[in-house]
Amino acid sequence: MSAPNPNIGENRPEIRQLDVAAVNRIAAGEVVERPASAVKELVENALDAGARRVDITYSDGGKTLIRVVDDGYGIAADELPLALSRHATSKIDGTDLLNIHTFGFRGEALPSLGAVGRLTITSRVAGQEGATISVNGSVIDPVRPAAIGGGTVVELRDLFYATPARLKFMRTDRAEAQAISDVVKRLAMAEPFVGFTLRDVSGGGDGRLVFRAEPESGDMFDALHDRLARVMGREFADNSLKIDAEREGLHLTGYAALPTYSRGSAVAQYLFVNGRPVKDKLLTGALRAAYFDFLHRGRHPAAALFIDCDPQLVDVNVHPAKSEVRFRDPGMARGLIVSGLRHALADAGHRASTTVAGATLGAFRPEPGNPRIYQMDRPNQGAIGSSYQAIAPGFAEAPVSGRVEAFEQPPEETIADWPLGVARAQVHENYIIAQTKDGMVIVDQHAAHERLVYEKLKAQMAQSGVASQALLIPEIVEISEADASRLLELSNDLARLGLVIEPFGVGAIAVQETPAILGQVDARAMLLDILDELSDQGESLSVQALIEAVLSRIACHGSMRSGRLMKAEEMNALLREMEATPHSGQCNHGRPTYVELKLADIERLFGRT
Ligand code: ADP
Ligand code: MG
Repeated sequence: MSAPNPNIGENRPEIRQLDVAAVNRIAAGEVVERPASAVKELVENALDAGARRVDITYSDGGKTLIRVVDDGYGIAADELPLALSRHATSKIDGTDLLNIHTFGFRGEALPSLGAVGRLTITSRVAGQEGATISVNGSVIDPVRPAAIGGGTVVELRDLFYATPARLKFMRTDRAEAQAISDVVKRLAMAEPFVGFTLRDVSGGGDGRLVFRAEPESGDMFDALHDRLARVMGREFADNSLKIDAEREGLHLTGYAALPTYSRGSAVAQYLFVNGRPVKDKLLTGALRAAYFDFLHRGRHPAAALFIDCDPQLVDVNVHPAKSEVRFRDPGMARGLIVSGLRHALADAGHRASTTVAGATLGAFRPEPGNPRIYQMDRPNQGAIGSSYQAIAPGFAEAPVSGRVEAFEQPPEETIADWPLGVARAQVHENYIIAQTKDGMVIVDQHAAHERLVYEKLKAQMAQSGVASQALLIPEIVEISEADASRLLELSNDLARLGLVIEPFGVGAIAVQETPAILGQVDARAMLLDILDELSDQGESLSVQALIEAVLSRIACHGSMRSGRLMKAEEMNALLREMEATPHSGQCNHGRPTYVELKLADIERLFGRT
């Protein structure tokens, strides 16, 4: 038991009104969690003021200095004290909290920052004199005239000096700097037409440029595409699909990556709601659902998505730092993302990401530092051997395990018409080499076929269920009793997938019909695979998703395993089918079904350019 409460008895404390400094410090606890949150508030203020350029500097991870310079419309000298007082804002009149078109509206950032650090604002409105104001631990100095060309400079020094407890929670300068850079990049994605620079001046002088983005131009999509290339990297921009979808007042735009460009974690997923960067689980879940069919577990899609809607449909006033929002109808937002992305992915057809070819080329390239043999004066035999292996790993000494089948040359003009080209050869009994107009394509015939079968199964499924064919003699599969009953529970769903099973005594199942498209299958292997999928996915998936997962397993069983020789017509038929089938650029596990090497890349490999 604890000691008697000292607050009860004669010493009952009185209720008192806290002073402004204390109130502001408490508020700052919510709004300003770390230097990055101060940067976020200041940059958002600059953007709200219509800035076209925002230049940010910091030192020591933002702990000792944060400075934000903008060319926005400025603050009038006589309003400077008001800007520093609590709940004073020029952005709303307070009558309608559901009709907000600016980043800020709470009027809390500047007073909060002034309570926990040394804050100076210098500003000038066009046609007026410039002025400056300072505040230290909520003590406000009088406004003084100041020389400034235009716009606003806000300088925040010694953040949290007034709240040493918070100071102790700061992470390393590096971690805080990283968080600042994340914040700036998110806002830079939200505002492609605004130019940004971010500089670390810890060492003094001009410091180090951490990030720079010139104002983009062109239409919204072009500008966004260029800005995303700046922030997320050229590879993302080159390998992403434009998203543009609308449903009941919600408008979804942005870019989402091809499945073959995926990441090991969910780091490259960005959501903006009415222009505001938000972190929302909604996005992670919706992306997972949209890419479910194409990505292996453990791989994560990359995307930058923007939902725009009437401000009435979303509440932004649910989080002090406004980093979360609440949709009036979250299901609809989620559904829009899932269907918008699925459509875009379907339209992408057989396209696979160029990073695949890049990785392939990387594998071909000699290790850096290895001398090129043709540059040597007089190479001895050993040197030739080892360099040769370095240049073409796996090619040099590998025993020839497959036959190379070469075909007649088709007429030139047909090559031009087909994106995946014309089959020239099959090697190692699984890889089709095709010649395209300006390069070559290597197809993994097993992976490609698996995807084609899966897409056909899905199409049949969407219509009237998968067509099945009855086995002449039912195949009896002996499995454990538990497994048997697990499968029999699903027998109705499985029947729609073209797999008809019936109980056959204890611990056995009779397979009566199998999906017609698969031809002859190993029923036992297929049932075991389905059981694996069920125990892997278990309860985590919706019934629909589970069925798709099972379907994808079934598809593997109809696929030509590698090791099947194909005739030229068969290969060309496969290529044409891939071109015509959605999602055929990757197999059911998100691996590419083909890689393309451009002639220019091949020439580069041989040092011809
Ligand atoms: P809020 O952004 O929620 O209105 P702040 O405390 O961040 O609250 O800012 C208070 C007010 O100061 C703003 O409403 C705005 O009028 C003015 N202000 C702040 N920063 C700037 C800026 N960089 N340029 C112009 N006006 C600014
Ligand atoms: Mg603000």
